[in-house]
Amino acid sequence: MKYYIWTVGCQMNVADSRKLAAGLDRAGCTATDAAADADLVVLNTCAVRAHAEDRAIGQLGRLKRLRERGKDLRIAVMGCMVGARSDDLRRRFPYVDVFARPQDFAPILRVAGIDDGGGEFWPSTFAEPDAPTAFVPVIHGCDKFCTYCIVPYRRGREKSRTIAEIKLEVEHYCGRGVKEITLLGQTVEAFGRDLGAGRFVGADWCEERGASAARPPDLGDLMRAVHDIDGLERIRFLTSYPKDMTPRIIDAVAELPKVCENFNIPVQAGDDGVLARMRRGYTLAEYIDTFEMVKARIPAAAMVTDVIVGFCGETDAEFARTCELLERLRFDKVHVAAYSPRPGTIAHRTLADDVPAEVKQERVQAVERIEARISAEINAGLLDSEQDVLVEQRREGRWSGRNRLGKLVHFGGEAGIGQIARVRIERATAWSLQGRALPASVPA
Ligand code: SF4
Repeated sequence: MKYYIWTVGCQMNVADSRKLAAGLDRAGCTATDAAADADLVVLNTCAVRAHAEDRAIGQLGRLKRLRERGKDLRIAVMGCMVGARSDDLRRRFPYVDVFARPQDFAPILRVAGIDDGGGEFWPSTFAEPDAPTAFVPVIHGCDKFCTYCIVPYRRGREKSRTIAEIKLEVEHYCGRGVKEITLLGQTVEAFGRDLGAGRFVGADWCEERGASAARPPDLGDLMRAVHDIDGLERIRFLTSYPKDMTPRIIDAVAELPKVCENFNIPVQAGDDGVLARMRRGYTLAEYIDTFEMVKARIPAAAMVTDVIVGFCGETDAEFARTCELLERLRFDKVHVAAYSPRPGTIAHRTLADDVPAEVKQERVQAVERIEARISAEINAGLLDSEQDVLVEQRREGRWSGRNRLGKLVHFGGEAGIGQIARVRIERATAWSLQGRALPASVPA
């Protein structure tokens, strides 16, 4: 059986699609890169923004036409478009064979006539890496229920994987040439809280590292547990929730040489009124405390944030405070999006989406201008420095990869994919650094 997986959305969806592909491969299926050529098409969807949902609906229309032209095809929809009850989706798309919630892979195999045998099939199924970097989900779901967000309804409550299972997956990747892993979670610092003290990696491990078996593990413990895996060079982590960040986790980042000092901590807004309407669970002062706690411990850390503009009732003055915050904290990168109401969320039910579309667009552009100026200034500070770059690809005669801070670097000279190249930076823009590899690149 040939399968085709279409994926949209965040890194968690990318990781889910890769795991599903590994399961289908293990069951004897073959991947194809065209839906028209497949016996099973899986759409891995995102519901965080209307645009992502519209793209999935467009794909469904194309699949329906394929079916109508006589193509024998199983259609599966998975990911964040699928809630606990999928009645409405079934009504709207009756030609879809199965709707599966995120990480609920078994129904997709069943509709393809494959028995996964249950038990250990999925926990021991890991994606085959095709790059020197890999995403490793460590906690699924989210308990925070920010008013604008659909994720907790679709991905469920926070549920951590065990350290033992995560270690196996990282060992699997590193045994196949992966040099960098990204520990993934919607709120990655919540990792371990639901595991309880008894689910640690074992008393020997605790004793060796002075960790306490009497408390549940946290993200710092997980970083320490995977740190010494052979072949692993770098560890990243995504995405942080400001209130879940603890000094112990920051200590782990500071102390462990393989953990990259790159924090992605979404602030979403720079005004307490907006933060309260979003129910983000922190005040601006608390966010700034977290930011400063990181910077005090790791001054060189690169700080990245997310901002939503045009949230319900956001006034010019409230938006101006977001801009002031960006000027004050000077993030290395800002991901900005205009608020888009999602049916089923608290904001959709209780707050008016009353900021006009053109005002939202102006605010997006205003944030982008601030970001471009500040990122360019920060990156200019790296001119003439030497950066270690994990080489990920070669395009148009240049190598590309990221430095420890997560910045994109394009460069010439001697290197190879999967190597860590030492690069002298000769040019810097807001979006990337450019330079040349120094002769003494570290072999893979
Ligand atoms: S922390 Fe808030 S925005 Fe992030 S996934 Fe959870 S509910 Fe959504």
